[in-house]
Amino acid sequence: MQLRSRPILKNCANRSRTLSNPMRHGNLIIVSGPSGAGKSALVAGVLRSLDRIRFSVSFTTRAPRGKEQDGVEYFFVDRNAFQSLIREDALLEWAEVHDNYYGTSRKFVDDLLEQGEDVILDIDVQGAQTIRRKRPDTVSVFVMPPSYNVLRERLERRSLDEGLVIKQRLKRACNEIRCYKEYDYLIVNEDLDDSIRYLEAIVSGNRCRKASRMEAAKSVLATFGGMDAENP
Ligand code: 5GP
Repeated sequence: MQLRSRPILKNCANRSRTLSNPMRHGNLIIVSGPSGAGKSALVAGVLRSLDRIRFSVSFTTRAPRGKEQDGVEYFFVDRNAFQSLIREDALLEWAEVHDNYYGTSRKFVDDLLEQGEDVILDIDVQGAQTIRRKRPDTVSVFVMPPSYNVLRERLERRSLDEGLVIKQRLKRACNEIRCYKEYDYLIVNEDLDDSIRYLEAIVSGNRCRKASRMEAAKSVLATFGGMDAENP
Protein backbone atom coordinates (compact mmCIF):
# COMPACT_ATOMS: atom_id res chain seq x y z
CA MET A 1 0.00 0.00 0.00
CA GLN A 2 2.71 2.38 1.08
CA LEU A 3 4.85 1.49 -1.93
CA ARG A 4 1.99 2.15 -4.31
CA SER A 5 1.05 5.49 -2.81
CA ARG A 6 4.57 6.87 -3.01
CA PRO A 7 4.69 7.76 -6.73
CA ILE A 8 1.30 9.46 -6.45
CA LEU A 9 2.51 11.64 -3.58
CA LYS A 10 5.65 12.42 -5.52
CA ASN A 11 3.65 13.50 -8.57
CA CYS A 12 1.41 15.73 -6.48
CA ALA A 13 4.43 17.36 -4.87
CA ASN A 14 6.01 18.05 -8.25
CA ARG A 15 2.80 19.43 -9.67
CA SER A 16 2.27 21.73 -6.69
CA ARG A 17 5.66 23.32 -7.33
CA THR A 18 4.60 24.27 -10.84
CA LEU A 19 1.37 25.98 -9.77
CA SER A 20 1.31 29.70 -10.25
CA ASN A 21 0.91 31.68 -7.01
CA PRO A 22 -1.17 34.66 -7.97
CA MET A 23 -0.91 37.83 -5.94
CA ARG A 24 -3.15 37.73 -2.94
CA HIS A 25 -4.84 40.70 -1.36
CA GLY A 26 -3.37 41.20 2.11
CA ASN A 27 -5.31 40.89 5.36
CA LEU A 28 -5.92 43.73 7.77
CA ILE A 29 -5.06 42.68 11.33
CA ILE A 30 -5.99 44.83 14.30
CA VAL A 31 -4.20 44.44 17.61
CA SER A 32 -5.76 46.27 20.58
CA GLY A 33 -5.42 46.15 24.32
CA PRO A 34 -4.62 48.39 27.26
CA SER A 35 -1.48 50.48 27.22
CA GLY A 36 1.23 48.30 28.82
CA ALA A 37 -0.32 44.98 27.73
CA GLY A 38 2.72 44.48 25.50
CA LYS A 39 1.19 45.13 22.07
CA SER A 40 4.24 46.95 20.64
CA ALA A 41 6.71 44.20 21.59
CA LEU A 42 4.32 41.55 20.34
CA VAL A 43 3.78 43.28 17.00
CA ALA A 44 7.53 43.97 16.65
CA GLY A 45 8.23 40.26 17.22
CA VAL A 46 5.84 39.18 14.49
CA LEU A 47 7.13 41.82 12.06
CA ARG A 48 10.62 40.40 12.63
CA SER A 49 9.66 36.76 12.18
CA LEU A 50 7.13 36.79 9.32
CA ASP A 51 7.47 37.93 5.71
CA ARG A 52 4.92 39.97 3.82
CA ILE A 53 3.53 41.82 6.81
CA ARG A 54 3.88 45.54 7.53
CA PHE A 55 3.02 47.86 10.38
CA SER A 56 0.47 50.61 9.77
CA VAL A 57 2.17 53.86 10.80
CA SER A 58 -0.56 56.06 12.33
CA PHE A 59 -0.80 59.80 12.60
CA THR A 60 -0.76 61.21 16.11
CA THR A 61 -0.78 64.60 17.80
CA ARG A 62 1.14 63.31 20.81
CA ALA A 63 4.81 64.21 21.20
CA PRO A 64 7.47 61.58 20.36
CA ARG A 65 8.58 59.48 23.37
CA GLY A 66 12.12 58.25 23.96
CA LYS A 67 13.77 57.27 20.68
CA GLU A 68 10.61 57.39 18.58
CA GLN A 69 11.13 58.70 15.05
CA ASP A 70 8.74 60.44 12.70
CA GLY A 71 7.53 57.97 10.06
CA VAL A 72 8.65 54.90 12.03
CA GLU A 73 6.42 54.54 15.11
CA TYR A 74 4.07 57.36 14.08
CA PHE A 75 3.73 60.34 11.79
CA PHE A 76 3.83 63.14 14.36
CA VAL A 77 1.57 66.05 13.39
CA ASP A 78 0.01 69.04 15.14
CA ARG A 79 -3.72 69.38 15.81
CA ASN A 80 -4.33 71.57 12.74
CA ALA A 81 -2.72 69.06 10.42
CA PHE A 82 -4.74 66.28 12.04
CA GLN A 83 -8.00 68.23 11.54
CA SER A 84 -7.10 68.65 7.85
CA LEU A 85 -6.61 64.88 7.51
CA ILE A 86 -10.09 64.34 8.96
CA ARG A 87 -11.62 66.91 6.57
CA GLU A 88 -9.89 65.34 3.57
CA ASP A 89 -11.22 61.89 4.57
CA ALA A 90 -7.62 60.65 4.59
CA LEU A 91 -8.18 58.58 7.74
CA LEU A 92 -9.71 55.12 7.77
CA GLU A 93 -10.50 55.75 11.42
CA TRP A 94 -9.44 58.14 14.13
CA ALA A 95 -9.99 58.50 17.87
CA GLU A 96 -9.04 60.64 20.81
CA VAL A 97 -6.92 58.59 23.20
CA HIS A 98 -5.30 59.92 26.39
CA ASP A 99 -6.07 63.54 25.29
CA ASN A 100 -4.34 63.11 21.94
CA TYR A 101 -5.61 62.27 18.48
CA TYR A 102 -4.59 59.10 16.69
CA GLY A 103 -5.63 58.03 13.20
CA THR A 104 -4.97 55.36 10.55
CA SER A 105 -3.92 56.53 7.09
CA ARG A 106 -6.31 55.08 4.52
CA LYS A 107 -3.77 55.34 1.67
CA PHE A 108 -0.89 53.84 3.64
CA VAL A 109 -2.99 50.78 4.51
CA ASP A 110 -4.73 50.31 1.16
CA ASP A 111 -1.52 50.60 -0.90
CA LEU A 112 0.08 47.82 1.16
CA LEU A 113 -2.99 45.57 1.05
CA GLU A 114 -3.11 45.91 -2.72
CA GLN A 115 0.55 44.90 -2.93
CA GLY A 116 -0.43 41.67 -1.15
CA GLU A 117 1.10 42.63 2.21
CA ASP A 118 -0.73 41.90 5.45
CA VAL A 119 -1.06 45.08 7.46
CA ILE A 120 -1.02 45.09 11.23
CA LEU A 121 -2.65 47.96 13.13
CA ASP A 122 -1.97 48.76 16.79
CA ILE A 123 -5.07 50.81 17.54
CA ASP A 124 -7.46 51.42 20.43
CA VAL A 125 -10.88 49.84 20.90
CA GLN A 126 -12.81 52.77 19.37
CA GLY A 127 -10.72 52.67 16.21
CA ALA A 128 -11.15 48.88 16.05
CA GLN A 129 -14.94 49.29 16.20
CA THR A 130 -14.88 51.76 13.30
CA ILE A 131 -12.68 49.55 11.12
CA ARG A 132 -14.70 46.43 11.84
CA ARG A 133 -17.83 48.29 10.73
CA LYS A 134 -16.19 49.53 7.52
CA ARG A 135 -14.19 46.37 6.74
CA PRO A 136 -15.95 43.31 8.15
CA ASP A 137 -13.16 41.01 6.87
CA THR A 138 -10.68 42.51 9.34
CA VAL A 139 -9.01 40.07 11.73
CA SER A 140 -8.99 41.41 15.28
CA VAL A 141 -6.84 40.38 18.23
CA PHE A 142 -7.17 41.60 21.80
CA VAL A 143 -4.07 41.52 24.04
CA MET A 144 -4.55 41.35 27.80
CA PRO A 145 -1.99 41.54 30.60
CA PRO A 146 -2.18 38.55 32.96
CA SER A 147 -3.60 40.78 35.73
CA TYR A 148 -4.21 44.37 36.83
CA ASN A 149 -1.16 44.32 39.12
CA VAL A 150 1.12 43.10 36.36
CA LEU A 151 -0.16 45.91 34.12
CA ARG A 152 0.53 48.50 36.83
CA GLU A 153 4.04 47.13 37.40
CA ARG A 154 4.77 47.15 33.66
CA LEU A 155 3.62 50.75 33.29
CA GLU A 156 5.70 51.82 36.31
CA ARG A 157 8.77 49.92 35.09
CA ARG A 158 8.42 51.38 31.61
CA SER A 159 8.57 54.83 33.27
CA LEU A 160 8.12 56.61 29.97
CA ASP A 161 5.16 58.37 31.52
CA GLU A 162 4.70 60.36 34.70
CA GLY A 163 2.69 59.16 37.74
CA LEU A 164 -0.48 60.98 36.73
CA VAL A 165 -0.34 59.58 33.19
CA ILE A 166 0.10 56.06 34.57
CA LYS A 167 -3.01 56.54 36.72
CA GLN A 168 -5.00 57.71 33.68
CA ARG A 169 -3.81 54.73 31.64
CA LEU A 170 -4.81 52.28 34.39
CA LYS A 171 -8.24 53.88 34.69
CA ARG A 172 -8.73 53.64 30.95
CA ALA A 173 -7.54 50.01 30.98
CA CYS A 174 -10.42 49.11 33.31
CA ASN A 175 -12.90 50.15 30.59
CA GLU A 176 -10.91 48.91 27.58
CA ILE A 177 -10.42 45.40 28.94
CA ARG A 178 -14.17 44.71 28.80
CA CYS A 179 -14.11 45.15 25.00
CA TYR A 180 -12.20 41.89 24.47
CA LYS A 181 -15.52 40.22 23.59
CA GLU A 182 -15.73 42.19 20.34
CA TYR A 183 -12.50 40.62 19.00
CA ASP A 184 -11.90 37.41 17.06
CA TYR A 185 -8.87 36.33 19.11
CA LEU A 186 -7.57 36.85 22.63
CA ILE A 187 -3.92 36.65 23.71
CA VAL A 188 -3.14 36.83 27.43
CA ASN A 189 0.39 38.16 27.30
CA GLU A 190 2.10 36.31 30.13
CA ASP A 191 5.20 35.25 28.22
CA LEU A 192 6.24 37.41 25.26
CA ASP A 193 7.74 34.56 23.19
CA ASP A 194 4.60 32.46 23.57
CA SER A 195 2.44 35.46 22.67
CA ILE A 196 4.52 36.15 19.55
CA ARG A 197 4.00 32.52 18.48
CA TYR A 198 0.23 32.86 18.97
CA LEU A 199 0.07 36.03 16.90
CA GLU A 200 2.22 34.43 14.17
CA ALA A 201 -0.23 31.52 14.08
CA ILE A 202 -3.20 33.88 13.79
CA VAL A 203 -1.58 35.80 10.92
CA SER A 204 -0.51 32.61 9.11
CA GLY A 205 -3.84 30.89 9.66
CA ASN A 206 -5.74 33.81 8.23
CA ARG A 207 -3.62 33.73 5.08
CA CYS A 208 -5.27 30.35 4.38
CA ARG A 209 -8.83 31.57 4.87
CA LYS A 210 -10.83 30.59 1.83
CA ALA A 211 -11.86 34.21 1.29
CA SER A 212 -8.17 35.19 1.14
CA ARG A 213 -7.30 32.41 -1.31
CA MET A 214 -10.00 32.73 -3.99
CA GLU A 215 -7.52 33.95 -6.62
CA ALA A 216 -5.24 31.00 -5.87
CA ALA A 217 -8.20 28.60 -6.11
CA LYS A 218 -9.17 30.04 -9.50
CA SER A 219 -5.67 29.64 -10.81
CA VAL A 220 -5.46 26.02 -9.62
CA LEU A 221 -8.86 25.18 -11.06
CA ALA A 222 -7.82 26.65 -14.39
CA THR A 223 -5.28 23.81 -14.63
CA PHE A 224 -8.10 21.25 -14.23
CA GLY A 225 -9.58 21.33 -17.72
CA GLY A 226 -13.37 21.54 -17.99
CA MET A 227 -13.95 23.15 -14.59
CA ASP A 228 -15.45 26.58 -14.16
CA ALA A 229 -12.38 28.53 -13.10
CA GLU A 230 -14.36 31.73 -12.75
CA ASN A 231 -16.66 30.13 -10.20
CA PRO A 232 -14.51 27.62 -8.24
P1 5GP B 1 0.74 55.29 22.61
O1 5GP B 1 0.61 56.77 22.84
O2 5GP B 1 1.03 54.55 23.89
O3 5GP B 1 1.66 54.96 21.49
O4 5GP B 1 -0.70 54.78 22.13
C1 5GP B 1 -1.83 55.03 22.90
C2 5GP B 1 -3.00 54.25 22.35
O5 5GP B 1 -3.35 54.74 21.06
C3 5GP B 1 -2.74 52.76 22.18
O6 5GP B 1 -3.84 52.04 22.73
C4 5GP B 1 -2.70 52.56 20.69
O7 5GP B 1 -3.21 51.28 20.32
C5 5GP B 1 -3.64 53.64 20.22
N1 5GP B 1 -3.40 54.03 18.82
C6 5GP B 1 -2.24 54.15 18.17
N2 5GP B 1 -2.44 54.50 16.89
C7 5GP B 1 -3.78 54.59 16.73
C8 5GP B 1 -4.62 54.91 15.60
O8 5GP B 1 -4.19 55.18 14.49
N3 5GP B 1 -5.96 54.91 15.84
C9 5GP B 1 -6.50 54.62 17.05
N4 5GP B 1 -7.83 54.63 17.15
N5 5GP B 1 -5.74 54.31 18.12
C10 5GP B 1 -4.39 54.30 17.96
